Amino acid sequence: MKPFSLVEFIRDTYQSSEFIPLHAPTFDGNEKKYVTETIESTFVSSVGKFVDDFERQIEAFTGSPRAVATVNGTAALHTALYMAGVERGDLVITQALTFVATCNALYHMGADPVFVDVSPVSLSLCPKAVDAYLTEYAELNDFGCVHRQTGQKIKAVVPMHTFGHPAELDELMAVCLRWKLVLVEDAAESLGSFYKGQHTGTIGDFSALSFNGNKIITTGGGGMVLCKTQASGQHVKHVTTTAKKPHPYEFYHDEPGFNYRMPNLNAALGCAQMEVIETYLQQKRYLAGLYQDFFAGSDYAFVAEPEYAQSNYWLNAVICPDKSARDTMLKETNDAGVMTRPIWQLMHRLPMFEQALRGSLAYSEFIEAHLINLPSSPADIFRV
Ligand SMILES: *Cc1c(COP(=O)(O)O)cnc(C)c1O
Repeated sequence: MKPFSLVEFIRDTYQSSEFIPLHAPTFDGNEKKYVTETIESTFVSSVGKFVDDFERQIEAFTGSPRAVATVNGTAALHTALYMAGVERGDLVITQALTFVATCNALYHMGADPVFVDVSPVSLSLCPKAVDAYLTEYAELNDFGCVHRQTGQKIKAVVPMHTFGHPAELDELMAVCLRWKLVLVEDAAESLGSFYKGQHTGTIGDFSALSFNGNKIITTGGGGMVLCKTQASGQHVKHVTTTAKKPHPYEFYHDEPGFNYRMPNLNAALGCAQMEVIETYLQQKRYLAGLYQDFFAGSDYAFVAEPEYAQSNYWLNAVICPDKSARDTMLKETNDAGVMTRPIWQLMHRLPMFEQALRGSLAYSEFIEAHLINLPSSPADIFRV
């Protein structure tokens, strides 16, 4: 396949001769109205009705018992790890094939990542690889799951639902139960993605969503912690709002808190975006279908949702036959004003994580060299 035919295909699909971004937000609904309301009410900051409304809407949409809004997705993940009991010096198993935020959150808990390979089924953390790593390097003793070489406690497993494709969660949960680990889902990319009918982020003990500008819906910047119980949700609300005991005038804080609350101004945007999320999801699924048809029968493999899942198709991706084909496609599309992107460099190549423990990363390395992300913004012309 010639890359220029891909450029033509994308331009035809978007009916545009201008620059085509990778993922751009649209604000055609009540965004201006709600944001203006916050300004006129003066409640732009940490208190206001939109924060509560947005949390309840996310709960209704995901089926999560309690969702707590935060200032961004990294903050949500940081809080989720704190709630999972991750402490200084602990180890946390995650994928090297992820956006750096996953590892930054770990790092700032004082924990070290252990990188394990991703699965060809989902491009997300591979349960078999996690189990194999633990079998080789870990033991269960009175302290829980301990790394045999370093003596560090292994506390949690953090799968990231890559590009919105749900990880194999039943199998990961089984591994976590066997090894007494907490499952924390990095669901930053997977709002609107379902695993066997259940929304991603509601299976693990704690999960994080992101509403950054490039995500499926945006609040400008924002995130959400999804909790399995009301009680843990209340605790998350408490620690993300400085852990202050309610009192009319006294300041008393009963644990080290975060100031991670989402401003009402941002939540207003989120409420408007939630009114159109179903449309975005339909448009993105339609677009993914067009890409899938375009690549069918070629030696470029479109990344489709796993059979057990319904993906939000946040970022469309294709696996090229070799690295040079991928690099050519990257150059030709970007030169032609059609934005495409390679996947993130693997985390163990970054200076702060190059010493991290790791298992085989063979499939992650293959994906790193062969994958390209394609323009994925929803658009009104994608009618089902
Ligand atoms: C976007 C993203 C986050 C969180 O990002 P924020 O910009 O802090 O909202 C975390 N993990 C992954 C994998 C992401 O893609």
